[in-house]
Amino acid sequence: MNYDTVIGLEVHCELKTQTKCFCGCRNNFGDQPNSNTCPVCLGLPGALPVLNKTAVEYAIKAGLAFGCTINNETVFERKNYFYPDLSKAYQISQLEKPLCVNGIVEINVNGKTKQIRLNRIHLEEDAGKLIHDGIGGTVVDYNRGGVPLIEIVTEPDISSADEAVAFLEALKSTIAYTGISDVKMEEGSLRCDVNLSVKPAGSDQLGTRTEMKNLNSFKAVYRAINYEQKRQIEEIEDGHKIVQETLRWDDSIGESRSMRSKEDSQDYRYFPDPDLLPVYISPQQVLDLKNSLPKLPNVLKAEYMEMGLSNYDASLLTETKQISDYFTEVLTQINQPKLVANFIINETLRKLKEDGENKISANDLSKLLVLVDKKEISTTAGKQVFEAMWNTGESAESLVEKLGLKQMNNDDELKTMVESAITANPQSVADYKGGKTSAIGFLVGQVMKASKGKANPQKVNEMLKELLG
Ligand SMILES: [Zn+2]
Repeated sequence: MNYDTVIGLEVHCELKTQTKCFCGCRNNFGDQPNSNTCPVCLGLPGALPVLNKTAVEYAIKAGLAFGCTINNETVFERKNYFYPDLSKAYQISQLEKPLCVNGIVEINVNGKTKQIRLNRIHLEEDAGKLIHDGIGGTVVDYNRGGVPLIEIVTEPDISSADEAVAFLEALKSTIAYTGISDVKMEEGSLRCDVNLSVKPAGSDQLGTRTEMKNLNSFKAVYRAINYEQKRQIEEIEDGHKIVQETLRWDDSIGESRSMRSKEDSQDYRYFPDPDLLPVYISPQQVLDLKNSLPKLPNVLKAEYMEMGLSNYDASLLTETKQISDYFTEVLTQINQPKLVANFIINETLRKLKEDGENKISANDLSKLLVLVDKKEISTTAGKQVFEAMWNTGESAESLVEKLGLKQMNNDDELKTMVESAITANPQSVADYKGGKTSAIGFLVGQVMKASKGKANPQKVNEMLKELLG
């Protein structure tokens, strides 16, 4: 039998505020354990939370970036559960009236565009972090407890591991553009839970779902989905029922393990936090936040494709704001989108991967590309100069001079070289005249060799054709 896979994601994203969500403790990754704590975030009796305005604004920005509706009244609730990473025994979260509802994330998989609907984005506080010391003990760091998080919940619109990863990539890049989070999966500021079920292909009835937690890389999400989808199908084919449960993905062994039977929201006894008043957000506040957002990657991508770039190239250039800003800046000085895009994708991105920092300013790169565009140096020479600029910091002009890469623009000198190539290669000339047009390539090669790469191949080609009639 064929099966459909139905996937919904819950993505947690830590917000990059200066302080925590309900107290003045510092929000900073990597500080000495338990140094950023106070009676409020530890939940000591009598301590009162005060809502962080920036956290609310950041959560609204996230909602606006994905086209959500922003609720003008929002309420914080207590989600009760007992676990050592939560000293208060409840987490301040939102259930009934989240900040943002609905919304869309558009993904592109194998050339097909699909819209993944968002159910909601709500604001909540993070729990502390349990650290298993490897010798049988566990310690807890409450620095993370109370850090503002947004939880982004999708509708079950995702049907494969590829789609899930495309969704997370789109989500990550858009959030990074808004500047509300550093979305570092390796530091835990972006984490994902996967809800997955399978059903007979085409059936309207959803199967029983499981929830996988602890997914902290795109690769883990991909592997976990493929594993769980296969496991559920095998269980069903063996005549077993799928148990609704929470699973913990172990990426080191590539398997999931049962953590606990899955709770429903009523198990958490949500109720409005009596220490926090409802929050009212005016349409003007929403509008101001909307106007403060930069141009987002999906908009930029569409603009780049209008300029004639492929979907793939446009995606690469909008992966980070740093790169799209750079591309835009170079374009202001040399309006050749394809040439600029090719150099940034093939050279800059490659070097960035090695070095981690861009060593050539937009201004310097545009000067190099003007030389290539005016055919003063060939594209190959351009790449050579690029490499040298990256390594030495010298200007394009001085490197072209130093490396002797200036293209030969003296027509008489070039003509002499073309003529000698014709004389020296009678067989190729005969082939060409006999209709084998590819023979001209060999002759161009000979002239390029004689000129030590400084001739303009296009010009050589034209000159050969003219001389050979
Ligand atoms: Zn605190």
